[in-house]
Amino acid sequence: MVDLLLKAAFAVPMTGADDVIEDAAVTVRDGRIEFVGRACDLPDTSAASTVDLGHHILMPGLVNAHGHAAMTLLRGLADDADLQSWLREHIWPIEGQFVDASFVRTGTQLAMAEMLRTGTTLFSDMYFFPEETADAAIAAGMRCQIAFPVADFAGRWAASASECLSRGLDLFDRYRDEALVQVAFGPHAVYTVDDAHLKKILTYANELDAPIHIHIQENAAEIDECLKARGERPIATLKRLGLLGPNLQTVHATILNDQDIQDLAEAGASVVHCPHSNLKLGSGIARINDLKAAGVNVAIGTDGAASNNALDMFAETRQANLLSRSGAEGGSSMSAFDTLHMATLGGARALGLEEFTGSLEAGKWADIIAVDTAVPGMTPMFDPISQLVHSTAGRFVTDVWIAGRRCLRAGQLTTLHPGKLREEALHWQALIKGADSH
Ligand SMILES: [Zn+2]
Repeated sequence: MVDLLLKAAFAVPMTGADDVIEDAAVTVRDGRIEFVGRACDLPDTSAASTVDLGHHILMPGLVNAHGHAAMTLLRGLADDADLQSWLREHIWPIEGQFVDASFVRTGTQLAMAEMLRTGTTLFSDMYFFPEETADAAIAAGMRCQIAFPVADFAGRWAASASECLSRGLDLFDRYRDEALVQVAFGPHAVYTVDDAHLKKILTYANELDAPIHIHIQENAAEIDECLKARGERPIATLKRLGLLGPNLQTVHATILNDQDIQDLAEAGASVVHCPHSNLKLGSGIARINDLKAAGVNVAIGTDGAASNNALDMFAETRQANLLSRSGAEGGSSMSAFDTLHMATLGGARALGLEEFTGSLEAGKWADIIAVDTAVPGMTPMFDPISQLVHSTAGRFVTDVWIAGRRCLRAGQLTTLHPGKLREEALHWQALIKGADSH
């Protein structure tokens, strides 16, 4: 007997560009997928619980491969500023004044409420008080990677890069047996972490076989600064120090030359593409087509809500596809399947979790979402995969299971309380509004 049987008009398992299963069934036992296929091929088993979704598409949960969940509380702050003044004049001063454990807990819960409602089952996070993010995710039943932040300057969580590292190393023990949480090193960027600490991070990451997650070459100013300070581009710094490898998740990579692309490809490093954030902050457009052509694994992330301003991975995926047609990314445009791949398996692979999630396959974690196709915005539907990229909005997601647990049921969150969260968020809004206007 299986724990759960799901039935739907379609399943898009993300196992191949032409793989669309009609009259689909998926079964789940002990949090893992046991069967994916046509309902008529389902072995004769009984289920403790059956959900017949009708006109829905079942697909793997989306992977939001880069963000700062707690920054939902800064959504819309200084929307018109460019990256440097946005950070230095608005975000960093407000963070310095307000960010504490309670800010991070509420902000993360608000982020997860938005992500679950729009089909994300796994998110990567880089922010202060990462233990609050991890604990909030465990309580909500959501999967996360916490890339604990390392930076040379004093922050609210730690006073120096060394203290960041010692606090961060404790997290590996704390979450060792927690299947929903993966710990990673999160050096903020090459311009905020010196060579000595980057080397230390590499040594620890190798010892622990842990991923490294870093913002890189987000805009032209960052490259100029690195050229002045180190006489090389940031990706060259990572290469010189030995950080460029398959465990490395490089975020943004908005400004790339051919050598950078070759270095990323040879190292087997992943790139996390954050199209909305890059456009909003005027940073540029990453050369995703060229990266894909060179064989680089690409994932998609929303970045924090303050620079997006939403955490809807369907919107992000569509934006990535449209940008690939703009001519600014080099190469030829991306197919719908390749784009959706970046938002699912590409993300899982970047995080080193491809074996466990990112597609609907027997043996993988039951991280599954259901998208309603019986709404006007999804009607008619000639090609489900194309529809998922070009027509689907996050609000069409009705149900989400993570490790077989139903975290969204017919549009209602089962592990978070939106009304209470809104009240808490409005409390922070009042405090921040008073401070930012001074
Ligand atoms: Zn970021």
